[in-house]
Amino acid sequence: MSVLGVILVLLFAAVVFYVCNWAFLDTRFVNTNQAAWNAVVLAGGLAGLAAAILVPVLSIGLPLGVVLFAAASISYAMHRNSLVTAPLRVLTGAHLERFRQRVLSRRAEKADAGPMSGAGREIIFMGFDDLPIRLELRSPAERRALAEVERVVHDAILRRASTIGYLARPGKGEVKYRISGETHAAADVERPAADHFPAIIKRLAGLDPAETRKPQEGRVRAIVAAQPYELRIKTAGTIKGEQVAVRVIDLVTSQMRLEELGFVPAQVEALKEALGVRPGLVVLSGPQDSGLTTTLHACLRHFDRYVNNIIVFESHTDVEIENVQHFLVNQEDGPVAAAEVRSHIRMEPDVVGFDAVAQPEIAALLAEAARDHTVVVGLRAPDPTQALARLTALLGSPRPLAERLQIVVNQRLVRFLCPACKEAYRPNPDFLRKANLGSARVDLLYRPPTRPPAQDKPAVCPRCKNERYVGRTGLFEVMPLDTVAREMIGRAAPPADIRTYIRKSGARNLQELGLQMVIEGRTSIEEVLRAIKETT
Ligand SMILES: [Zn+2]
Repeated sequence: MSVLGVILVLLFAAVVFYVCNWAFLDTRFVNTNQAAWNAVVLAGGLAGLAAAILVPVLSIGLPLGVVLFAAASISYAMHRNSLVTAPLRVLTGAHLERFRQRVLSRRAEKADAGPMSGAGREIIFMGFDDLPIRLELRSPAERRALAEVERVVHDAILRRASTIGYLARPGKGEVKYRISGETHAAADVERPAADHFPAIIKRLAGLDPAETRKPQEGRVRAIVAAQPYELRIKTAGTIKGEQVAVRVIDLVTSQMRLEELGFVPAQVEALKEALGVRPGLVVLSGPQDSGLTTTLHACLRHFDRYVNNIIVFESHTDVEIENVQHFLVNQEDGPVAAAEVRSHIRMEPDVVGFDAVAQPEIAALLAEAARDHTVVVGLRAPDPTQALARLTALLGSPRPLAERLQIVVNQRLVRFLCPACKEAYRPNPDFLRKANLGSARVDLLYRPPTRPPAQDKPAVCPRCKNERYVGRTGLFEVMPLDTVAREMIGRAAPPADIRTYIRKSGARNLQELGLQMVIEGRTSIEEVLRAIKETT
């Protein structure tokens, strides 16, 4: 073999090593069968190298080896692309196009070598062209600032913050998260990273980093744990200092269809049937931060938005639904808000949504609208009976409900136990009896780990970073109303009696369905109890 031949084979070996190493990290990142796919890629690499070395004629052996290795690697790339959302795919048309442009413009940047899946990284920022954003960083301080931006956004997303606030102070940056409607202080950003922190965020969002005074608005996407998020960024100079506000929007949850929210099949059927009744009234209820807006949006997206004229009133709009008109209302404005709602309903929409009705005048308008249209109303209430009672109180009479109410939904959000570190245990038989679960049916339940990990296991769970829970789902009680139930409402029967009547036809409540999730090993008893106990 010539010297050139040896160099080519060594280069090939380096590529094989690089791709195998990437695949090793990437299998974990996309959560697929690590052993099997590593074996496929490695076998392709070894077969390829064997062909390059053992076939006597290098001009035949090397191309043959490259083809063998490419076949194995590309089949892995196709497999992993099928597991992830568009922004996380590798070797797509957009990548090849960017590569072609780079080659044409001869602007080879060192940072751009290699696959872009984010393997081994906790967060990646993505542009709206579905490609990772690569900032050109000129100083160590800028690199530190980017690392701090990554840390803060990653931390906020893990803690499910809806907003990140950043205020530049002399010598440091103050960080605050808004979580479940409450403001929490987070760790400060220290200098020198603090000096560049707002500028790095602005560059990520495509804003002018030099403009520190005038308000600017931009967007960028972030991927954490293979889930996409949208970050809406607002910056402005204030008397106190430069301020950055980042709204975090979970793109997967906000696009979910009714079937994906966590309803059991019979519940989805009942809800779809109720939504199909026109005119009719559908009530969605739950405490604060129980996912009501997500369910309301999924209900509105259930309609054909090209045929129907759909409007929705909200206290704030995070996610706009295509072909649905969103209107902001501030119910504290009283008569002003009611007048606005009235004027929009007068435009004869087919479907009206309202995110959380709290004002008698608006409740009356919506009940009135339900004479002609399909009306989907959100309401703060801890269970369906209290939702009925509260709505009756807002309306001053059960009559509109007796005429038009189709269904009452109540919901909570329940987190899934981390599948990697959850711990099995034998439940106490007394507990099972109290929960109406005969011990015959359940041998093992799961809970977050109570023991430190074994010596040979990592101290920090690679899947959940010791958060113990990964992802969440809705837990629903669905109460479809029939003629008898509506008649009970009409004669002001106690809401608890109405619920008892409906439960006879098989409707299951939050406790029963929550325990079902526990038995299936998807969550813990503590988590279900925590969720159900939330009442405001
Ligand atoms: Zn874990």
